[in-house]
Amino acid sequence: MGVRLKFSNFAYMKKTILAIVAVMLALAPAAARGLKGKVIYVNPGHGGWTINDRPHATMNYEEMDTMSFFESKTCLWKGLELRDRLEAAGARVIMSRTTNGWVAVGDKNATANDRVETYADENGQQQLITLEKIACQVDSINPDYFIALHSNATGGGDGKTVNYLLYMYRGETGNDYAHGSIDRARVAFPYAWDNPLTVWTSSSPDDMYVAGDLTWMGGTPPGKPNVLGYTGWLAVLKHRVPSFLVEGSFHSYQPERQRLMNRDYCRMEGVRHFRGINAWFGGKPEKHGYIAGTIKSADERVDNPRFTYKEGTDDQWLPLNGAMVYLLNDRNVRIRHYRVDNEWNGFFGFFYLKPGKYTLVYEVPGYESVSEQVVVKKDHTTYCKPRLHRINH
Ligand SMILES: [Zn+2]
Repeated sequence: MGVRLKFSNFAYMKKTILAIVAVMLALAPAAARGLKGKVIYVNPGHGGWTINDRPHATMNYEEMDTMSFFESKTCLWKGLELRDRLEAAGARVIMSRTTNGWVAVGDKNATANDRVETYADENGQQQLITLEKIACQVDSINPDYFIALHSNATGGGDGKTVNYLLYMYRGETGNDYAHGSIDRARVAFPYAWDNPLTVWTSSSPDDMYVAGDLTWMGGTPPGKPNVLGYTGWLAVLKHRVPSFLVEGSFHSYQPERQRLMNRDYCRMEGVRHFRGINAWFGGKPEKHGYIAGTIKSADERVDNPRFTYKEGTDDQWLPLNGAMVYLLNDRNVRIRHYRVDNEWNGFFGFFYLKPGKYTLVYEVPGYESVSEQVVVKKDHTTYCKPRLHRINH
């Protein structure tokens, strides 16, 4: 400004400027709130089609068939949706990998379907698998948030009815070596847990399972240092960034494994992780909502050695493969439909819906059709669990 100041009013000006600065500082946190410009590192667990990528037989496929369950595949599905939601909210996302079928150099278990990890593939995107390489990259980028996506398994083979949500951070339980890890996990937990389509057997927002990796794995504090000097247990968390690894559910619980076979079910988990991250940064709610559900028989139970369910829960009912789900708007016009897959999960999902009233119509040959009215709210998933009766002739 071309204003010449006399010494006498300089003190006044200084005071005014300080007042303006104080107001700007007070507003700054609000303006900086949310995910805009934040750097988020997303690490979908595992990477290849090897025996170490947690392959399992499912109702329709044998173990190691790429059509069957691989944790590497389902973690990537969660991660890609999480990335899309974060980017839509203005964040910059770095992913350790964006496709499946990558193994580390010299992996003796590599299959014909695997390629060797790279810092940039033909699309210019990195496909990193080595946990220490990822930890070093995270440490050098120093993102605002780091999340590793996994699902869990119990020891002792299949058929265990254990399924809970678990967050692990670097350190001992109650002592996060990267301070802020516990707080991030505890903010995220209730969002990730909000999935009534699964059957949780323990752990809840009132009793969150948020554990230090050393405590969880039974290691001796402070754990082994990596090349950067960070200690702990899980190699991918050995960096300076407050972070966690989330075991979203148990793929060793067979009905849950069948659900994870559905890409949209995994995408819904990605949405829930997004909400936890968005909440951490105090971001705006998403403008759209979602519908997710499972359609099952009202009368028939599943009876299959590959589908051991927890007694007395929703998982006892036969999922209706191939069911058609129609979505009608408030003027009763069909606007979308979902064909349930043949993977014995009954799952259906509708993404990015305008808030409002909708009607769902469920149609399965041989069963009585059912419809129900639902309300979709912004930044919220409406869950539906219809059960259809067989038509008796
Ligand atoms: Zn895993």
